[in-house]
Amino acid sequence: MKAKKNLGQNFLIDEKVIMDISNAINVGEDDLIIEIGPGMGALTKYLKMKNVPLVCYEIDPDLRPYLNKLEDTNTKIIYQDILLSNIVDDIKDIHYNNLYIVGNLPYYITTPIIKHLIALNIKIKEMIFMVQDEVADRFTALPKSSEYGSITLYLKYYFQVTKLFKVSKKSFEPVPKVESAIIKFVARDNKPNINKELYFKLINDAFRMKRKTLKNNLKDYDLTLLEDFFHRNNLNDTIRAEALDENMFLELYNSLCKRVP
Ligand code: SAM
Repeated sequence: MKAKKNLGQNFLIDEKVIMDISNAINVGEDDLIIEIGPGMGALTKYLKMKNVPLVCYEIDPDLRPYLNKLEDTNTKIIYQDILLSNIVDDIKDIHYNNLYIVGNLPYYITTPIIKHLIALNIKIKEMIFMVQDEVADRFTALPKSSEYGSITLYLKYYFQVTKLFKVSKKSFEPVPKVESAIIKFVARDNKPNINKELYFKLINDAFRMKRKTLKNNLKDYDLTLLEDFFHRNNLNDTIRAEALDENMFLELYNSLCKRVP
């Protein structure tokens, strides 16, 4: 089958990489796996060996000839755009303990997919995704690095994100233009107790113009409170957002956004 570029179809052909991804998913016997974009089933066939219910979302019905033979009572393929899926409804009759979401993602919608999954508000235990290597670096960046940004902090609010290993372009057919990496998201059970909408707005505002100072990016906030924050934390008021780790951002949130009821 001719791969469809517009659907991000780069199929995995390196059996060792496929096994490494599968081995990174440690499900228990009562767990459930969701796979995004099974393609021709390269990873699906290993996921099936875990003997737990498996639900896959594939947008391209032309892949049916490959995927039909993988369907059985435990494995269901839903031909639908993952961004339009209502996973909550689709899995409501499955009894499971923990939910794992896996996929060699279509790179053109990596972040929308993750945001869609978060917005569904389902309890996810872990997510293991193949993403573009550069994106993996942004998702897992440390403060003071050029990759660190609002998306890093947004994801960190929900998950502990780690890059597991890089994957060479040669592991795919057709060969993509970019390098790839496997990342793992583990749900955090100590999420900060804050108004997350206000917090996400604050981090977006703080990183709006990366070259500008934090003070400049936050000029619509209360300047006195911001200066108090700098003073209390011994910070120079010329610092940029990238200098602050999550704890500092939470401190900044408490200084600028927290409302006393
Ligand atoms: N898992 C296969 C593999 O590793 O060989 C295929 C991975 S390929 C990078 C991405 C897959 O996601 C393709 O099968 C593509 O058709 C599918 N896809 C693209 N956009 C999608 C969407 N919005 N919803 C569900 N699947 C999508």
